[in-house]
Amino acid sequence: MKLKFLGATETVTGSKHLIITNKGRQILLDCGLYQGMGKETDALNRKLSVNPAAIDAVILSHAHIDHSGNLPNLVKQGFTGLIYCTPATYDVCRILLLDSAHIHESDIQYINKRRTRNGQEPLKPIYTTHDAEHCLKQFKTVPYDSEFQLNDEISFHFTDVGHIIGSASVHLTSHETEQKVKLSFTGDIGRYTDLLLKSPKPFQQADYIICESTYGDRLHESSEDAGKRLLDIVNHTCVVKKGKLIIPAFSLGRTQEIVFVLDSLKNKKLLPDIKVYVDSPLSVSATEIVRKHPECFNDNLIDYIKKDPNPFGFENLFYIRDIEDSKRLNSIDEPCIIISASGMADAGRVKHHIRNSVGDEKNTILMVGYCAPHSLGSHLQDGSKSVRIFGDYYDVKAEVEAIHSYSAHADYSEMIRFLSCQDKSQVKKLFLVHGDPEAKIYFKHLLEKEGYPDITIPERSEIFELT
Ligand SMILES: [Zn+2]
Repeated sequence: MKLKFLGATETVTGSKHLIITNKGRQILLDCGLYQGMGKETDALNRKLSVNPAAIDAVILSHAHIDHSGNLPNLVKQGFTGLIYCTPATYDVCRILLLDSAHIHESDIQYINKRRTRNGQEPLKPIYTTHDAEHCLKQFKTVPYDSEFQLNDEISFHFTDVGHIIGSASVHLTSHETEQKVKLSFTGDIGRYTDLLLKSPKPFQQADYIICESTYGDRLHESSEDAGKRLLDIVNHTCVVKKGKLIIPAFSLGRTQEIVFVLDSLKNKKLLPDIKVYVDSPLSVSATEIVRKHPECFNDNLIDYIKKDPNPFGFENLFYIRDIEDSKRLNSIDEPCIIISASGMADAGRVKHHIRNSVGDEKNTILMVGYCAPHSLGSHLQDGSKSVRIFGDYYDVKAEVEAIHSYSAHADYSEMIRFLSCQDKSQVKKLFLVHGDPEAKIYFKHLLEKEGYPDITIPERSEIFELT
């Protein structure tokens, strides 16, 4: 078979790799959107670089938009085959793809207002919520660790990689010739210290590996006691200063982690008697999905549930879906915690909460995730004295704190640990994708020192023969 790299070659987004079998069948691994590539982004996402009608199947590693987000476009442009993923990935895609379509449609509306003013042709959205709904009909779920015979040439199975709920590494076996060829695609690799999810699982010996390298040049801060630090900030803000604590958090993953930490503090009777609001319709749906998939939970969480069957809910915790209820939070004049998306504070309801609380020193804004350089979250973290929100400037008087120990991506030592299940001498080629150039080069050197015989950094459109 052949392997062609179509995306995530020079960046961390746009994951898309094409397998071409000896009989000419085409199988896509992931079909993600490029994100944050400036002016290039839109054009990169519109151009699929494959003939969608010629693709036989898609195998999806996980639901993050940089891995799944271009599937509605693929279907819209003529792909009629099935999209294979784990059951939890399907559930998460149901909310994330619709959300992605919705955000994209409103962005295009906004851009078109300007284009019309300038006498330019309006742009059509890459896909709509209708297209996203349509694409979801082509999903087929395959549970972890169960070998699925795709056709007479290819079989595959998923293993849990602990990155987000449902996330998987994909292990393909080619039966084209007498000598089977095994290709493993790591997808995004999770942590060995995740609060909720299982650790990345060892996998069968591969001949070829496509490996992510997001944090190929970084080690995470040693996992501080996230609970204690969070409790200190809660007490300082809500008990001492009697203010509001605003926590921008990604709807899926980070929000459930924070709620779980608060739930444990509540059970230990350490959490002060204040109200906690999770204000994001997407977070509410995401939490429901997480509850539905205990197959992804680690032993700690399973033991915890034996004592407390509701790890994402406690007295005085309120999930808010309705926009009017969300607006009502603005007028609350008592100490409380508001957890709301997005994590970088550059979109979503959390922007309103920050606008409403940033000017008062008794409040605290707590960042718990990665913030892209020009996002509101990053300006706050960098200590800006004034920030722009919805076109107006606001003085930053609230305290700004950050906890860095949460991350859904393995650092380089964890990635090396994940790969250590392999007999290195048998890995004919290890391809590095899904990383910035510096991260990939650094990680390549580390892996060479580890003894992998051939580490390749593929370029976009490069094709390799796998024998
Ligand atoms: Zn991911």
